[in-house]
Amino acid sequence: MSAAILEVNELKKHFPLKGGLLGSTTGYVYAVDGVSFSIAKGETLSLVGESGCGKSTVGKAILRLFDITSGQVVLDGKRIDDLSTTALRPMRRRVQVVFQDPFSSLNPRMKVRDILAEPIRNFGLAKDSKDLEARVAKLMDTVRLPRDAVNRWPHEFSGGQRQRIGIARALAAEPDLIVCDEAVSALDVSVKAQIVNLLQDLQQELGLALLFISHDLAIVEHMTHRVAVMYLGKIVEVAPKRSLFAAPKHPYTEALLSAVPVPMPGKQRERIILTGDVPSPINPPKGCRFHTRCPYAFDRCRVEEPKLAQVPTALVSGHVAACHLHDRPEAENPLAVAKGAALVAA
Ligand code: SF4
Repeated sequence: MSAAILEVNELKKHFPLKGGLLGSTTGYVYAVDGVSFSIAKGETLSLVGESGCGKSTVGKAILRLFDITSGQVVLDGKRIDDLSTTALRPMRRRVQVVFQDPFSSLNPRMKVRDILAEPIRNFGLAKDSKDLEARVAKLMDTVRLPRDAVNRWPHEFSGGQRQRIGIARALAAEPDLIVCDEAVSALDVSVKAQIVNLLQDLQQELGLALLFISHDLAIVEHMTHRVAVMYLGKIVEVAPKRSLFAAPKHPYTEALLSAVPVPMPGKQRERIILTGDVPSPINPPKGCRFHTRCPYAFDRCRVEEPKLAQVPTALVSGHVAACHLHDRPEAENPLAVAKGAALVAA
């Protein structure tokens, strides 16, 4: 992989809780609480975790949809989290988004031609009106939609076609990075596969980097280069796809993977059912945030927060996890081998 197009350093986003008659701050939702990762040019990094873990908040912070509490977001070597709206404008073109819901993310009062022309005009990318038309037609080709469909309204398309228009709108700005926020979650299974294949093709053709935010590990396994797993506002594991799926090194990842169907007849995974509710991000547990649900928790986990570090028993370098188990001798570490996610005979 080449140099990083995006670096996120110790990102925090704490939303204030307002209460009382005067609307004073009574606490905070620690939605994202110290997250760091990078994405190389042309790479797909998937950010996964249960609903409410903070993964979409990370995406919105990168898109500068709000100001962050602290940390840094660096795009192609330039910090963007502290830029003014005016200074941010040229950088906005370089990071685009595809949202989850293709039904509400397109303006119903604009024809497809105008939806695609808008970012081209806004960023001054077309030389003249002929060039604008040519760019719109090329975008339709790129997302495999007929050119004459530019004269139609969003409601005249299926969900999958609308998501293609959403992708074309993102591409219209000629970005370096696209944030795909649950971009295929609302689609039927067969349409989902088509859109994932399209995103993969486009990535190879255009050299795009993708931040693929998803709760669906089966889709992630199909399309990503690396995976970052989030739990309660923190990243708990990051690894190249093969290493993570073959031998997860965090108990939370192990449990998530155990629920992914295995595409091999006669095989199944040993399912790990997590007990207990996800704790509130308003009052996250001390020590390891996962200790209230972790089947391997021991005394140290309840008092000391584990740091992300290379796992000694991982298959490759760059496989990091935040778990005290990896400080134990291998014989006392249930994740030294891929026990939980291992395939077992049906
Ligand atoms: Fe479980 Fe402890 Fe590891 Fe946290 S640090 S994941 S509680 S074993």
